[in-house]
Amino acid sequence: MEYSALRKMMVENQLIARGIKDQRVLQAMLKVPRHLFVREEDLYRAYDDMALPIGEGQTISQPYMVAKMTELLELKGDEKVLEIGTGSGYQAAILAELAREVFTIERIASLAEEAESRLRQLGYDNVYVFVRDGTLGLPEHAPFDRIIITAGAPEVPEPLKKQLADNGIIVAPVGSRYSQQLVKIEKLKEEFRQSYHTLCLFVPLIGEYGWND
Ligand code: SAM
Repeated sequence: MEYSALRKMMVENQLIARGIKDQRVLQAMLKVPRHLFVREEDLYRAYDDMALPIGEGQTISQPYMVAKMTELLELKGDEKVLEIGTGSGYQAAILAELAREVFTIERIASLAEEAESRLRQLGYDNVYVFVRDGTLGLPEHAPFDRIIITAGAPEVPEPLKKQLADNGIIVAPVGSRYSQQLVKIEKLKEEFRQSYHTLCLFVPLIGEYGWND
């Protein structure tokens, strides 16, 4: 089967069937070639309902989780977004389809380099990749309209809350090292409103405001 047909099945059976409604998110998931973000040996299951290994003990997240987190960000098109955990670059590509600019941070240099070259080859010139501890954010580029953390955090790092713009939104998996829940934080006039969503399991966020290595 062609990859575009597999993508269509993924969107219908994994996303729409589970309640993803944002049409822009569904269109982005239909468009971005997920098979170009996985290892060659995983091509046959690039559109399956699961996270996949990308090397260095890290993963590209399950398609549903990417769609759900992106939907929670409520992107309209003009936002400056910060992602913590570039990994393969797949989530960054989805964000780049839906927002103005994407700043993405990865702590493992080899993954960041691969993701950056993939994103360049695909023509995403509104994504900027940084190698450092993402729990500290990017103070020199703050504030951000949206922040997404794609690794499991003990709590949302304080520096990231400080780098969020007014009316901004943070989405992050928060919990223990082995089980988390998606948390959405909305910043309304210096007040943070928190809501809880899907249960999930991410690799750990490692850093000064995350878990120890
Ligand atoms: N968003 C990625 C994608 O689309 O492929 C998946 C991310 S993977 C589940 C989590 C990533 O977070 C890993 O690549 C890991 O190295 C990275 N990570 C963990 N702690 C980090 C930190 N403090 N700063 C930046 N990246 C971090």
